[in-house]
Amino acid sequence: MLILNDTNRNKHMFAFIGKDLILRANGDALTEKDFINLQKAMPYDIIFSEPENNITAIGILCKDKAGNPTASSLPTEYTTLSIRLYNTGQTEENVTCILRAKGLMEWLRETKYCPVCGTKLTPHKEQTAMVCPDCGKMIFPRIEPCIIVLVRKGNKMLLARHVQRNQDIYACIAGFMETGETAEQAVRREIMEETGLTVKNIRYFGSQSWPFTSQLMIAFTAEYESGELNIQESEIKHAAWFSKDECPATPQPGSIAHKMIHSF
Ligand SMILES: [Zn+2]
Repeated sequence: MLILNDTNRNKHMFAFIGKDLILRANGDALTEKDFINLQKAMPYDIIFSEPENNITAIGILCKDKAGNPTASSLPTEYTTLSIRLYNTGQTEENVTCILRAKGLMEWLRETKYCPVCGTKLTPHKEQTAMVCPDCGKMIFPRIEPCIIVLVRKGNKMLLARHVQRNQDIYACIAGFMETGETAEQAVRREIMEETGLTVKNIRYFGSQSWPFTSQLMIAFTAEYESGELNIQESEIKHAAWFSKDECPATPQPGSIAHKMIHSF
């Protein structure tokens, strides 16, 4: 159950600004008092709690009404840290809670009106869902599955610099699943589209929630089967085969891509 505009004390209290978490300057988690301070000091658009998961969260706006960045006006007793960095070294319960809180926040931001009749949605009284008071349509938090794959060829792995994201690092091939596809079909399609290669022996590796926004990364390994590297320039800047010893800069710890690359 979601309670909007609620600041009741819960075990996990998170404040987000963009992809960062706000912590006390010494790195400690926020208290109820900090929550009240932040509400007074900073512009925010969403505040909610989910009692059954012991979560309370506030979404601080990255820009104020005049369009000025707000991070510089954060009171000095607080600091920010990338959620990705915060996740490393945390318990599984803490990681799950923060990803859930962030995912629900992003979902609430874009789930305000009924997609059937356009009426303003309200929180469901029992479930974590929004409901249309007019036509009864229920909207549940959305998850968008993506595949991410590490392709092997002998003792080398295929890594690529992407055009649109994290251009300074080499990462695995990844993309959204399309309607009607299996995950394995998505793996074959994405690799063919982005690199011109075919693969075999697709094996499940693991998965990771990645709520920026609402993604579930489903990770696979695969073996090179045939073809010459022929990159899709609209998506990939450069792709090549790397051995473990000549591995370039890769995604940070805490990501499933990092785990796959460094367990190669
Ligand atoms: Zn409706």
